[in-house]
Amino acid sequence: MPFYHLKCQKCGHDFTARASIADKTQQRIACPSCTSTQLQTVYDKNPNIYVKKAQGACPNRERCGGCCHK
Ligand SMILES: [Zn+2]
Repeated sequence: MPFYHLKCQKCGHDFTARASIADKTQQRIACPSCTSTQLQTVYDKNPNIYVKKAQGACPNRERCGGCCHK
């Protein structure tokens, strides 16, 4: 089963949960803190990751468009 890094939209509690894809899409995962099922998936949607990619200045950026991420 996959792991998810989730954040509760109600109380802001941040946690990881192991659940099937069906459990997740059908919102059967509940916040351990307030039992809300209004959860936001953190994943790669974390803005910090975007910032890191944007700042990971590629020396060949002009040529490759920054797609090599080096
Ligand atoms: Zn909560």
